[in-house]
Amino acid sequence: MRLIIPDAIKSIVPYPPGKPQDELEREYGVKNSIKLASNENPWGPSPKAVAAVREATGNLHRYPDGASYYLTQALAAHHGLGADEIVLGNGSNEMIEFLVKAFITEGLEVICSHPSFLMYEKFTRMRGGNCQVLPLAGMRHDLSAMLAAVTDKTRLIFIDNPNNPSGSAIAPAVLYDFLSHVPEHVVVALDEAYIDFADAGLHLDVYSLIRNTNNRCAVVFLRTFSKAYGLPGLRIGYGLMPRQVAVCLHKVRQPFNINSLAQTGALAALEDQAYFNEIIDKNRNGRRFLVERLSRLGCDPLPSETNFIFFDIHADADRLYEAMLGKGVIIRSMRAYGHPSCLRVTVGTEAENKRFLAAIEECLREISRV
Ligand SMILES: *Cc1c(COP(=O)(O)O)cnc(C)c1O
Repeated sequence: MRLIIPDAIKSIVPYPPGKPQDELEREYGVKNSIKLASNENPWGPSPKAVAAVREATGNLHRYPDGASYYLTQALAAHHGLGADEIVLGNGSNEMIEFLVKAFITEGLEVICSHPSFLMYEKFTRMRGGNCQVLPLAGMRHDLSAMLAAVTDKTRLIFIDNPNNPSGSAIAPAVLYDFLSHVPEHVVVALDEAYIDFADAGLHLDVYSLIRNTNNRCAVVFLRTFSKAYGLPGLRIGYGLMPRQVAVCLHKVRQPFNINSLAQTGALAALEDQAYFNEIIDKNRNGRRFLVERLSRLGCDPLPSETNFIFFDIHADADRLYEAMLGKGVIIRSMRAYGHPSCLRVTVGTEAENKRFLAAIEECLREISRV
């Protein structure tokens, strides 16, 4: 074998796979560990979605509907848009990939923030594109730096709003002003994976931004069933966008990218808005509780519009992370994101939040003693 690997691929660092939970338990000698590290919905999806998926297993010998007709129609009605303004992806991750595939070739440019979602840069590098990665300013997207970074080679700007890992959202007035200044040849992708958890006042006018494209850049909204809807295992997300953009994304899409269980499960989850609203309320209560208790512990949590909290222990985050593992509580150190004294915790169930707080109180004492 004599592989000739393109430079664009050679330079990519693979996404480090997390250890399975039972593997960690064995390593640390703990049982009943809780995972508050991946911003998952701890209450799970709507029982109606689970029932629908179970029923759909009877048809696995058939190819899925390549147009995802029923789910697309339901999403169109839900958002007050046309079916031709919606594209579905195998997770919103695939939507990011579609955008890059459709608009980036070698030498073209993408702008995004750091810390932020790592996939924007990864897909861009795979295509031989250049990614301008701009640091957050005060843990917020630096929109003026983004505007200043636009060149005639820029094709895409990715903004996760709310941002992961800070949990902050951009005030709509600020974002509207930014969008009105982005040159028309650029597509702005707003990754709204966590927008469901944000205050209603922070939601943008999706309809106007998609329909009014005269003298303005195209805006694409990325949404997912992985967070509030609790279905990351099915891999289903979608984008809302001007139809001219949707036409391009359909060209780079595999015909059967959305499997039949994902189509059925997402549709049932979308239809159960009562359950969805319950989840949003539970998350808001858990988030308020955690922010208040973390503040009391001197951990300076950032205000969050999401289902996770970024906080600063003013000590070595990796050591706290390890100590917490010893107590069977999995959270995430932000050292790899450039914040060596910060961590991120996902809002859990009431019982999980209490266990997390009890563990962190003990661990903070332990690591400051030695
Ligand atoms: C979790 C997350 C997503 C969701 O990705 P899926 O592929 O839909 O599971 C997207 N963007 C950000 C910033 C996220 O944190």
